[in-house]
Amino acid sequence: MKRRTFIKNTLQGASSFLVAPLVFASCEDTPVGESKSVIVVGAGISGLAAAKKLQDNGFTVTVLEAQEKVGGRLRTNRSLGIAFDEGASWIHGTDGNPITDLAEEANMTSFFTDDDSRKSYDIGGVVRSAAIYDEAEDNLYGILANLMDSGSETQSFQTVFNAQYPNYANDRLYKFFLSSYITFDTGDLDKLSSLLYDEGEVFGGEERIITNGYDTIANHLANGLSVQLNQRVTKVDYSTDKVKITHNNTISEADYVIVTVPLGVLKQNIITFVPELPTTKQTAIEKVGMNCVNKFLLTWDTAFWDDVQYISYTPETRDKFNYFVNVKKFHPSVNALMTFAYADYGRQTETMSDDQIITEIMAHLKDMYGNNIPNPTNLLRTKWNSNENSFGSYSYTAVGTKMEHFSDLAETVNDKLFFAGEHTNEDYFSNAHGAYLSGNREAEKIIDLQ
Ligand SMILES: Cc1cc2nc3c(=O)[nH]c(=O)nc-3n(C[C@H](O)[C@H](O)[C@H](O)COP(=O)(O)OP(=O)(O)OC[C@H]3O[C@@H](n4cnc5c(N)ncnc54)[C@H](O)[C@@H]3O)c2cc1C
Repeated sequence: MKRRTFIKNTLQGASSFLVAPLVFASCEDTPVGESKSVIVVGAGISGLAAAKKLQDNGFTVTVLEAQEKVGGRLRTNRSLGIAFDEGASWIHGTDGNPITDLAEEANMTSFFTDDDSRKSYDIGGVVRSAAIYDEAEDNLYGILANLMDSGSETQSFQTVFNAQYPNYANDRLYKFFLSSYITFDTGDLDKLSSLLYDEGEVFGGEERIITNGYDTIANHLANGLSVQLNQRVTKVDYSTDKVKITHNNTISEADYVIVTVPLGVLKQNIITFVPELPTTKQTAIEKVGMNCVNKFLLTWDTAFWDDVQYISYTPETRDKFNYFVNVKKFHPSVNALMTFAYADYGRQTETMSDDQIITEIMAHLKDMYGNNIPNPTNLLRTKWNSNENSFGSYSYTAVGTKMEHFSDLAETVNDKLFFAGEHTNEDYFSNAHGAYLSGNREAEKIIDLQ
């Protein structure tokens, strides 16, 4: 159980994608970027990757970041003594994934998460047999492989699925699969494209969860870079020779700018572009979807749950605290579970108090483990949809999205205005590796211009 790509599971072995080789400074004495300046907007993994590569190639680089620390959606909360990753947690497929090497370089530690180490509960605390679970899972993969044949540009995944499989639409186990396998990976089923729900490439190999914090990579990349924190960019004026960037009532100039703010921020028009962005880019900003996944970490004095990695629960309400990662498996000294809320229910959690959240999560746990289980000692939670630095979790193929929209989001404007970020990577959108590769891609474009 993980953010998984369903149909492509069988193809994973074929993935031999390698990171594009680093482009170093020219062989001559003068580095390619000397005397050229670049401002990178956003210190997430894409912005930091771009900044590092450009600085290594002699450019004068400044990163402007709205938050108090680097990392963006690689954000780790250590207030409870363990690393709780509020954004990315997993390296999705270690084979050929650039994050694998980067993790090693940065001393980021990880733990193999095994989909087969799991137990599934139905409501009433009824344990579901592995055979029933596996059979339904296989059946779902078959459905997913075929469903797009019935899809159309204007219909959502939910509309087509419900029309074809009305019985499964109300089956708690299928609702759980749709939620934790598909909505988690993509977005709201009623907005997800019925044609493009399986787009995006995957890496083979293990799924590994990070144990000392995904921000380890961000801090590693930021080392030696000039990053100005607490600087919110509000305007990018690329109408003159030098690009003028307004941040906190200051105007900074550079030869090039790379905008790496999340798609959610672009959708909110928080940054004014002068002149306006080309229509193709504006259309892409509108059409590609931005989803909502929220994460919750709870701790207890004692562990009362099963000694497996994943515990799934299949409530009537879709997308609601339906699976639990047993954090104790990789932090043995801590009794903690991590759970999730997606899509509309995920957004709804953002208006709920901590006590309400605990009550709802405990209702599921009590149904599985009895009314006498202890109350949690702590709760950590995210509110990605209302977070002004992202306005959502990651991009997905909504109804109306075309795959070329991802390339439109990456398109350079006037050889001065560049765009990186997970949402600009047609092959690996939504993931940390996609964001990282996009930063390197934009740095190379600027290097190639010299
Ligand atoms: C809940 C969740 C779970 C995830 N799980 C995984 C996972 O397990 N594995 C995986 O590979 N990926 C996962 N991802 C996706 C991954 O975290 C992202 O794809 C990746 O971190 C995005 O990097 P980025 O550089 O594109 O954007 P960001 O990291 O968002 O960086 C953009 C930066 O821009 C800054 N910014 C925003 N507005 C402004 C402004 N106006 N001025 C200046 N700065 C600004 C932001 O503060 C941020 O630091 C997850 C994401 C979330 C939210």
